[in-house]
Amino acid sequence: LIEHGVPDRTVITTCAYCGVGCSFKAEIKGDRVVRMIPEKAGKANHGHSCVKGRFAWGYATHKDRVTKPMIRENITDEWREVPWDEAFEFTAKRFKDIQAKYGKKAIGGITSSRCTNEEVWLVQKIVRAAFGNNNVDTCARVCHSPTGYGLKQTLGTSAGTQNFDSVEHCDVIMVIGSNPTDAHPVFGSQMKRRLRQGAKLIVIDPRRIDLVETPHVKADYHLALQPGTNVAVVNALAHVIISEGLHDEVFVRERCEMDAFEEWKAFILDPVNSPEEVAKVAGISADDIRAAARLYATGGNGAIYYGLGVTEHSQGSTMVMGMANLAMATGNFGRPGVGVNPMRGQNNVQGSCDMGSFPHEFAGYRPVADDAVRKTFEDYWGVGLDGEPGLRIPGMFDEAHAGKYRGIYIQGEDVAQSDPNTLHVEAALRNMDCVVVQDLFLNETARFAHVFLPGTSFLEKDGTFINAERRLGRVRPVMKTQTGMEEWQVTAKLSEAMGYPMPYSSAAEIMDEIAALTPTFAGVSFARLDRDGSLQWPVNDEAPDGTPVMHVDHFVRGKGLFVVTEYVPTEEKTNRKFPLILTTGRILSQYNVGAQTRRTDNNRWMEEDVLEIHPSDAEMRGIQTGDWVSVKSRKGETTLRAEISERMAPGVVYTTFHHPESGTNVVTTELSDWATSCPEYKVTAVDVGLANHK
Ligand code: SF4
Repeated sequence: LIEHGVPDRTVITTCAYCGVGCSFKAEIKGDRVVRMIPEKAGKANHGHSCVKGRFAWGYATHKDRVTKPMIRENITDEWREVPWDEAFEFTAKRFKDIQAKYGKKAIGGITSSRCTNEEVWLVQKIVRAAFGNNNVDTCARVCHSPTGYGLKQTLGTSAGTQNFDSVEHCDVIMVIGSNPTDAHPVFGSQMKRRLRQGAKLIVIDPRRIDLVETPHVKADYHLALQPGTNVAVVNALAHVIISEGLHDEVFVRERCEMDAFEEWKAFILDPVNSPEEVAKVAGISADDIRAAARLYATGGNGAIYYGLGVTEHSQGSTMVMGMANLAMATGNFGRPGVGVNPMRGQNNVQGSCDMGSFPHEFAGYRPVADDAVRKTFEDYWGVGLDGEPGLRIPGMFDEAHAGKYRGIYIQGEDVAQSDPNTLHVEAALRNMDCVVVQDLFLNETARFAHVFLPGTSFLEKDGTFINAERRLGRVRPVMKTQTGMEEWQVTAKLSEAMGYPMPYSSAAEIMDEIAALTPTFAGVSFARLDRDGSLQWPVNDEAPDGTPVMHVDHFVRGKGLFVVTEYVPTEEKTNRKFPLILTTGRILSQYNVGAQTRRTDNNRWMEEDVLEIHPSDAEMRGIQTGDWVSVKSRKGETTLRAEISERMAPGVVYTTFHHPESGTNVVTTELSDWATSCPEYKVTAVDVGLANHK
């Protein structure tokens, strides 16, 4: 207040960092934010916040912001500022030239989980309606795409089953591959409150995360499994439950497909899934597996919360289905305090998926190949649409290497820093004739771009985000756009230049179109959100007030489907040359690739990524905390500062990817989930040794 002055007005908006989606009251003086105060009426946060949402918003006016469109003929040329119209004409001509020479499918786009639903909607629409193909994907590809697949197969819809407040009814909380106190701090605190009240805790994670032991909270069981063995462990838990008759027979009989259950039951009872066998594979105790399984099955309401430690594996989708199997077998669905709950990373990753950002699905997860669904969109949009699924992000890069995919429109996603196997991604971008980056800053991907379209921060946006509990919250403009154009207008203008006009007059009008075309959003409008504060989808005639808990009387697909989840080890193996497993994650003060948080005072708390290494592995290599060490994999090499830590077991090292100079993803591999191509960030065989210098 001393620095910025006394506010003269307030605006209620939604945090643009993690999937908790905290509601804030922005205090404003003139056109500048003075303070962000967590909103007591916010249904996701109840007046709480973390250091990111509360303090890390200054990037919106940071000097690095690019506010004018820029173009260049070649990526070796200097950028040239141009008027918006010239940027649109330049881009449209390049895209059209590419399509004339290489075919309609030679271009596509990536939507951003940082942008509003309305902005995402227009990017998937420009690809489908103006580019004429389905080459649209979302950055969820590299995080929670296995959630989308796994939950849809087993339950019928691609979203978490509960609201956050459901945790207050849990008796047993199972946290798998998620670090809520760092990655979802406000929900992490809510979970800790419940644990302090006496709920039991099972943590399944190779790393000793804070929840394992913090003041007044101690996990009953910490299964510190070898990275890559999740599926074996979830199968072993199920083996104990079924072999000891601890499953909920009535629930299974009434709510699930019995043929599939019997097939799964026969599979799960195979001795290969016994705790004794799995203990050898996962490096944990068979007794702990048995005890954890008994606790989850018999301890009352059991809820699973999971994160990218589940999804970012070659068996990510299998593991999601394995957890759904476990919850169905124990009757843990359809009431508060239970369920299978993905802790979605980015503020609007749920929304970007819901909006139809997948190459095989329209909004609401309906197949592009379905003639009836496609006709609905064709009639509304007044254009013929392609019924063949398009390319996923890894496919776009592979096709670019082959010279067939030549142009890409990237909305708010830094693929050159965040995607795995960086050298492969960079070579693909270099091979394209038109790379368009729409972002706040000249990010790593912009080094390969021909067009830069300046984007807007959440403080300038008008629209909605959807958090991890399917809650739509309003994002309201707090200050004027720094660029003179809202992001949805940018996409609409580009579409017009491509020959397909999108004459919207407001973001509210785009939401009306979303509601008209997507049954789960049929009852949503800006007016309704302004009246009710927020709403959890589905919101429609069957659920006019929204849906805090899903699958109450029946699963969305009808009967729940058990799926056989065979454990298949990753192809990424350690050997004498690469004897350690590297796994990656995030820390509290920073956010993903750090584009925002690195440009705020939060950066002081962690100015570089460090490599956590167990004392025994460090001693063997003569490494002390603070030494520069080289990290080598089969894909590449980078240099990080070491921190000796007992959070990791011997043989496993850990780092983050918040700082581009760390080059963490130079070493990660191109291996990915069998069903969704989500990269296997969590398992990379490496060696670590002292480096002479950075
Ligand atoms: Fe923002 Fe997530 Fe922190 Fe809430 S918990 S303030 S949504 S970063």
